[in-house]
Amino acid sequence: MILSINPATGETLATFEAHTQQTIDQCLSAALSAQKAWRERSVTDRMQVLSSLARVLRLRKGDYAGLITLEMGKPYSEAQAEVEKCAVTCDYYAQNAPRLLDDEVVASSASDSRVVYDPLGILLAVMPWNYPFWQAMRAVVPALAAGNAVMLKHASNVPQCTLALASLFVEAGVPDGLFSALLLDSSFVRGLIEDPRIAAVTFTGSTPVGRTIASCAGHALKKQVLELGGSDPFIVLADADVQAAAKAAVKARFQNTGQSCISAKRFIVEAAIADEFADAMTNHVAQLVIGNPMLPGTEIGPMARANLRDELHAQVVATIAQGAKLRIGGKPLDGAGYFYAPTVLDHVSVTMTAAREETFGPVAAIVRVHNADEAVAVANDTEFGLGAALWTSDPVRAKRLTRRIEAGAVFVNGTVASDARLPFGGLKQSGYGRELGAHGLREFTNIKTVWTGPARPVNP
Ligand code: NAP
Repeated sequence: MILSINPATGETLATFEAHTQQTIDQCLSAALSAQKAWRERSVTDRMQVLSSLARVLRLRKGDYAGLITLEMGKPYSEAQAEVEKCAVTCDYYAQNAPRLLDDEVVASSASDSRVVYDPLGILLAVMPWNYPFWQAMRAVVPALAAGNAVMLKHASNVPQCTLALASLFVEAGVPDGLFSALLLDSSFVRGLIEDPRIAAVTFTGSTPVGRTIASCAGHALKKQVLELGGSDPFIVLADADVQAAAKAAVKARFQNTGQSCISAKRFIVEAAIADEFADAMTNHVAQLVIGNPMLPGTEIGPMARANLRDELHAQVVATIAQGAKLRIGGKPLDGAGYFYAPTVLDHVSVTMTAAREETFGPVAAIVRVHNADEAVAVANDTEFGLGAALWTSDPVRAKRLTRRIEAGAVFVNGTVASDARLPFGGLKQSGYGRELGAHGLREFTNIKTVWTGPARPVNP
């Protein structure tokens, strides 16, 4: 049984029977034949379906956003923005995939040699709940554009969103069978990866589960992309606009109630401006509006599940016990739902829990450093390598430092965000492979060399 629970109240909204192996088999058979036909259609023809997805996403934006907020608790305005971002991504690939998947002619000894991008087949996408539409769509849309079929195993705490995604594809006129979204227990994932009908796997979620997926896919020798956890640094150097950095820091940490892989989690600040930064950040955090995520104006909703709140609180308690100073928050909020007070921990050191582990909720950790070199060393002193932000007013210094930061993306004087036009992904324990942009589009293709020699006359 799969439950849909409102994290703002703890109330069970609906229960669903999980799909069975029989449904999986039906969906895989349908996907096999749908993908055979789909890959034969021209890229331009396929792109009409993506435009149609964008249209339906915009048409149903309010309904989808309502479901997102209801099931995982993000503020409704953020949920609407999430659905719009999915539509923008469909538009981007509809306009650009034909160019990005075009053959690349390469000069060689051949009469003609070129690189062509063929689809792989059926992609299994295992996705998390924190952006129930965006995480799924950013994996599915480029995979379909490249000519693949996709089977989605979504997180169990967002079943209504999962079913809404399935209807979206039907309403947009995506060929039957090409996309399926199933309500499945995670125990089915291993069998799916091993199933010969599945060609490749994309996983977004925690690092420990990523390791399990990677070993299954590795054993089956199937291509995989892993988008895993993060503990993004947000470096503020003494020459930065400290007030602007503090304001941006609050958005970077507390958007989506802090439940984002690319939330800034460690604020690494030069000592000369650390008090000013910490005071400004704390003041902004004190003004955040917490409450019913459906109401306009709410900035912080509940956390998505009770166990996630418990785990976050344990990390906060441990970090304070290790010597960090609590500036604000630091506790679950009384009453119904899984609310946690937006929290700022100051004087965190690199060995403390909040600096070593991913904190997946509304908790900021400020680490004070003496200079830029130490800031980069602290930023890199983590098992993760997803995103990073660097705040400085010196562009030459910024250029030099960005090359030394171990991350899949570095944003200078900005907050890390995904963008359909730019590749997204990490390194170290944050995973490998890329989503979005040209690189993400080509991840699930067979990059095939076609070499043609001079035509020889055939003897009569
Ligand atoms: P999770 O527990 O790893 O779950 C993610 C998905 O994996 C869900 O569909 C889940 O299904 C499934 N799953 C869980 N255990 C499994 C197992 N043993 N075998 C196969 N599948 C399994 O992650 P989460 O708590 O939902 O998401 C938060 C994590 O995702 C954070 O670490 C965050 O940083 C990371 N994340 C990374 C990115 C990125 O792009 N790098 C983006 C978003 C989130 P069930 O729900 O049925 O358990």
